[in-house]
Amino acid sequence: MKIAIIGAGPRGVLVTSALLSQYKQRTDQSEPLEIKIFDPYGIGGRVWRTDQWNGLVMNSPADQVSLFTDESVNLSSKVYDGPALFGWLQSDIAKKFLTDEGFDQEMIELAENIAPNDYAPRALYGAYIQWFYSELLRQLSHNISIEVVKSQIISLNTNQDSKINVATSDKEEIFDKVVMALGQQDNYLNTSEQQLASYAEENDLKYFQPTHPGDVNVDDLPAGEPVIIRGLSLSFLDYTSELTLGRGGQYFKMMMVPYSINHLAESQKSLPVLSMGYPTIQNQLVKNDMVKWYNQFS
Ligand SMILES: Cc1cc2nc3c(=O)[nH]c(=O)nc-3n(C[C@H](O)[C@H](O)[C@H](O)COP(=O)(O)OP(=O)(O)OC[C@H]3O[C@@H](n4cnc5c(N)ncnc54)[C@H](O)[C@@H]3O)c2cc1C
Repeated sequence: MKIAIIGAGPRGVLVTSALLSQYKQRTDQSEPLEIKIFDPYGIGGRVWRTDQWNGLVMNSPADQVSLFTDESVNLSSKVYDGPALFGWLQSDIAKKFLTDEGFDQEMIELAENIAPNDYAPRALYGAYIQWFYSELLRQLSHNISIEVVKSQIISLNTNQDSKINVATSDKEEIFDKVVMALGQQDNYLNTSEQQLASYAEENDLKYFQPTHPGDVNVDDLPAGEPVIIRGLSLSFLDYTSELTLGRGGQYFKMMMVPYSINHLAESQKSLPVLSMGYPTIQNQLVKNDMVKWYNQFS
């Protein structure tokens, strides 16, 4: 059986884990299993790239994120228990993995000092996914081959034998089954976004179209420049972090205005989206103040 998994984010990696487990438990392992995982960003995928700035953090607390299963998970695969992100970050295994993979000292210290309900840098979750995948490889049974291909899939077609032709820009290959675990995709600009882009171009302004903020270079924005951020959810917090902490800024408390932000932002709710609103603040004390501040308006 030859299987293509498109997307190497958490879902693609979890599908791989489940496939390997089912192959071990439910077959006599006589038929070879060949898995190819396609993703231009490699294992972990785009959201969890390990080379991104550590100020871009998760919005799920570190002790609530895991790729492993336990008895509470109702799956047909055998339970595959292991540490959640928090437990792993605290372990010597993580320290060795991060060191061996060339993470800088700052990132290794962030991992060591994280609290269970802190929000880890996304890059550290990327490292956890990569380590999880390396554990899968370590436990491979015979007759299995698995390969990561750092390419984008540009077309899929079912042929007359009900097999699937999978194409990258330079190669086409036939698979028995394909799993698509593509995550969120960048979209075409809608009419109002096109208008904003054109306006910016005509007036020598910068317009960043909706995408992952971690992929946008905001370093060229001159100091003191007014910035309008449209929307007050996850990307707003990412951009705010990049434009403040990312430029050497700090959170500090003032008497009447606990957190003044020198940006203009608009959204239908006019307030940061609650579930996305706190994570940027990694420090629990500052976060508690922010929750109080937010609750005045809710
Ligand atoms: C900036 C950001 C932050 C987030 N933070 C959190 C968080 O803290 N906690 C949380 O629970 N969720 C978070 N999410 C939601 C998050 O995307 C999911 O939790 C998780 O990453 C979904 O996993 P996935 O494998 O389905 O998709 P993804 O992680 O998005 O992975 C999909 C992968 O598919 C690849 N791909 C897509 N199309 C192709 C193609 N044609 N060919 C080859 N590869 C392809 C992409 O490159 C990508 O790497 C966040 C999302 C974003 C965008």
